[in-house]
Amino acid sequence: MRSDVATLPGSPERPNEDWVAAALPASGRGGTVVLLDGVTPPAGDDGCVHTVPWFTARLGGSLTELSASCRDMSLAEILSLAIRRTADAHRGTCDLSHVRTPQATVVLVRWDETSVEHLVLSDSVLLLESPGGAVRAVLDDRLDHVPDEVLRSLAATDRLRNREGGFFTAAADPAVAARAVTGTSPRAEVRALAALTDGAGRWVELFGAGDWADCFGVLRAEGTLGLLHRVRALEAADESAGGTRRWKLHDDATAALVELGAG
Ligand SMILES: [Zn+2]
Repeated sequence: MRSDVATLPGSPERPNEDWVAAALPASGRGGTVVLLDGVTPPAGDDGCVHTVPWFTARLGGSLTELSASCRDMSLAEILSLAIRRTADAHRGTCDLSHVRTPQATVVLVRWDETSVEHLVLSDSVLLLESPGGAVRAVLDDRLDHVPDEVLRSLAATDRLRNREGGFFTAAADPAVAARAVTGTSPRAEVRALAALTDGAGRWVELFGAGDWADCFGVLRAEGTLGLLHRVRALEAADESAGGTRRWKLHDDATAALVELGAG
């Protein structure tokens, strides 16, 4: 079993709001991957005296500890408890009912000898590779259904943030765990897996440089940092060609690759 993780900040002036961990126990054949993408707060009040990196570090730390140690809890139960713990850490100082309270996308994966469990919330992606090389992308595509013109308006986006009919992130409400995309695969059907924040998934989703299977091929051949450098190169070429296709030229970009080996 082998893991490879890398992250690049979107801008040297801003803290990286992604968070990633891979836990591979020395004994047994289980493990866990946690990948978070903190939602960058727009200028203005978010009701919180902390920072997004403060939030993702606490949520990510809790998710890692619980998924590595509490086999009797489902991934949704783990996400729910981790959100509650994180909320408890600042409910005394901050207004957790604020719609822009610190929040993050989540990919959580846990495996043992028999199965690979996954949970995906919001727009990070999980890739599962079969022994034959087929790659399945697990996505929570609710945000894709929100029109771009809505996302360009903060007020309009806030009306859909963690609201029925909109999109959901891990913020301060533990009940959101029930909204996550979850599933279980037989361990024998997963040879390797990868998790990407949307800043890394741009290679496929924004630039169309290949499909998810091609992306997996890049991760394996060039490593996670190799994929992130390819994204930065595409962004630089796009900028010099005169157009940024999104409002952010660069986004924090993070990738994790785990080779599980034979099942
Ligand atoms: Zn706070």
